Amino acid sequence: KLVIIGSGPAAYTAAIYAARANLQPVVYEGFYSGPPGGQLMTTTEVENFPGFPEGIMGPDLMGLFRKQAERFGTQIIGEDITSVDVSERPFKIESSSGVVMAEAIIVATGAVAKRLSVPGTADHEFWQKGVTACAVCDGAIPIFREKHLFVIGGGDTAIEEALFLTKFGSKIFIVHRRDELRASKIMAQRALNHPKIEMIWNHVLTRVEGDTVVRSVTLQNVNTMEETKHTAGGLFFAIGHEPNTSFLNGKIELESNGYIKVFKGTSTSVEGIFAAGDVQDHIYRQAITAAGSGCMAALDVERWLALQESAH
Ligand code: NDP
Repeated sequence: KLVIIGSGPAAYTAAIYAARANLQPVVYEGFYSGPPGGQLMTTTEVENFPGFPEGIMGPDLMGLFRKQAERFGTQIIGEDITSVDVSERPFKIESSSGVVMAEAIIVATGAVAKRLSVPGTADHEFWQKGVTACAVCDGAIPIFREKHLFVIGGGDTAIEEALFLTKFGSKIFIVHRRDELRASKIMAQRALNHPKIEMIWNHVLTRVEGDTVVRSVTLQNVNTMEETKHTAGGLFFAIGHEPNTSFLNGKIELESNGYIKVFKGTSTSVEGIFAAGDVQDHIYRQAITAAGSGCMAALDVERWLALQESAH
């Protein structure tokens, strides 16, 4: 009856509710698209998820979500969904191993970290050879030890990544295109007070160079246009996220920024398809709000399926 696509807090919460409502949900949690569990798998300590007053590690929290979904009979499949045919119901959903039909779908595929297309950062250049978009995933690798590391961005992610990198690098520079942080005050203060962190205001990245790994970054002052080259061992993008919607082949209405447009709770422009979590939320983007919208999506599906049945 119900296929849930995704494996973060939204997907597993939807699965818990749907399984308890006897909808026998099948969750496609992805495989090549990234580790099941979503963005919390690349986080360390989560301090703001209610119910864990001492904090909990992101992967441990996701393990608990998944276990709870399984407890009520959710079937979890470790494959990616490659496309969805929304033209008729039941929907035809293609995974890497075949086709499955579903009356309803909850899309909870989340978002991925954005990158800039600056010379030296492409896949065939220094991407994953010192350039990454996730300090928490990659920061501990030896090439970054005792080096000057550069984080691009001015939001909470940039601050969090910079603070995390202080454990490894000799000095961390946060490069921001403005002279004011977007990050929350409490996070910003932690970075501004940290002896290993230095802010580089009003600058953008123009080039990354190296040999087998990154050796330097070139920054440009946005006011004077002057460029400066800095010795660097690593570059970390922390400039926000992009929703994962490509498998929908443009068949569902999106907001102008690419996030799925939702109407009345979690319904989308296609009847029978619902969206939850970061794939439809560019504002709150928290584990707890994703989980909340996963719950809403499961309840919306349950009501919608009941209406369909009573209409026949
Ligand atoms: P944000 O959208 O908040 O910040 C992105 C940052 O990147 C901004 O400072 C932006 O600059 C900058 N940026 C965007 N595009 C470019 C570009 N092309 N060139 C240079 N700089 C660019 O994203 P985050 O990932 O930081 O945070 C997302 C959400 O997650 C927020 O709500 C945040 O509060 C939350 N979060 C909370 C954490 C926590 O509480 N522990 C940790 C991490 C995230 P500008 O400011 O000029 O627009």
